[in-house]
Amino acid sequence: MLEVRWRRAADVISRLTTPPTPSRYDEDGYLPQACAITTERVTDFPFREELPAELRPRLEELVRETGDGGDAITRLAGWKLGGWPTWHLTHPMAFACGDCGTAMMLLFTVASDDETGVVVGRWGELRVFVCPADHRHAFQADLH
Ligand SMILES: [Zn+2]
Repeated sequence: MLEVRWRRAADVISRLTTPPTPSRYDEDGYLPQACAITTERVTDFPFREELPAELRPRLEELVRETGDGGDAITRLAGWKLGGWPTWHLTHPMAFACGDCGTAMMLLFTVASDDETGVVVGRWGELRVFVCPADHRHAFQADLH
C-alpha cells in the first residue's frame, strides 16, 4: 500500500527526533531500514526521446562517456523527488489524472539501489505521479 500525504512546512511546529517504527517492516520489502537521508541536488533532464533535437548529440556523448548504454540522464540511483521519469522499458507516455485529465507529473521515484538496499520488482523503480492542477486528485503509481 502506498500513501501520499501533503503537509505545509509552516504547519510543522515540532520535529520528530525519533521517527515511529513502520508497522510492516517484515512484510513490505519497499521499506528501507532506518537510516539517515542525505540529499543531493542533481540536474535532471527529460528522457532522450523527449529532449529537444539540438541537445541529443550532447546526450549521445554523455552516454558514451558514462558507458550507461542508454538512459544516462533520468535513471539515477537512490530516491528522487521531482525530476523526469525514465522510459528505459517502454516508450514515453503521459499519465492522465483520473479526476480531471491533466497530464500528471513525477513526484517521487524509488530506484533499486545497492547503497540503500532497496530492490523494486526486478531491479526497477517505483514511481509516483501526481496531478499538477490539484494535489487533492488521486495519485498514480507504477513499477517501471
Ligand atoms: Zn487532476
